[in-house]
Amino acid sequence: MQAPDAPLDILVVAPHPDDAELSVGGTILVSRAQGLRVGVVELTNGEPTPHGSPEIRARETAAATQILGLNWRHNLNLPNRRLEESLDARRELAGVFRVTRPRIILAPYWEDAHPDHISASRLCDAARFWAKLSRTDMPGEPYHPPTIFYYWSIHLRIHPAPAMVVDISDVIDRKMEAIRCYESQFFIGKSQEFPTPLDDIHDRARYWGWAIHSKFGEPLGSRESLRTPGLQAWLS
Ligand SMILES: [Zn+2]
Repeated sequence: MQAPDAPLDILVVAPHPDDAELSVGGTILVSRAQGLRVGVVELTNGEPTPHGSPEIRARETAAATQILGLNWRHNLNLPNRRLEESLDARRELAGVFRVTRPRIILAPYWEDAHPDHISASRLCDAARFWAKLSRTDMPGEPYHPPTIFYYWSIHLRIHPAPAMVVDISDVIDRKMEAIRCYESQFFIGKSQEFPTPLDDIHDRARYWGWAIHSKFGEPLGSRESLRTPGLQAWLS
């Protein structure tokens, strides 16, 4: 694993290629525009799928990475469809946290229809704790990522209340552009009759934008109370 050239501000943990773009593509773009350093770690290569291959998925991911302007991206190649919160997987992810040293982790929400996403969410919590351990053979130095938020995946059909909604109104078109890089998942051999998965993603972003009196948004959850140095952020 290649370390980033400086610690990351935000690390998105994605069970599969395309999850980061689908769930927090807008948050990534907004953060990059604000000068924050953002990385993505995929846990699996997402294969097999009906029209994909590891090579195709890697090419699609590289194209989306360009649009997002990511500072760092890596794939752990854990087993797709069989992702488990195993000690080996926990060790791998904790190593990523120690090497990339993110101030914020964006993890999948803890409930989901896809078992890989539920495992990934648990893995993030466990690896966050493990990353601070001393006297281990994990790479990097002990580190405890101070903040973890949880994003809504494309499979989530329940309606939990988010802790916040990121305003992505200025970047919604580029978010959709990044998602369209994943042709094997959304275009090849797929019906384009309304509503497509991309229509769903766009309209859900519009719903969350409405919820915050804006145009488009992405929800984030938190189990922990959020610290704020004051109320200035709500005056703009
Ligand atoms: Zn996924």
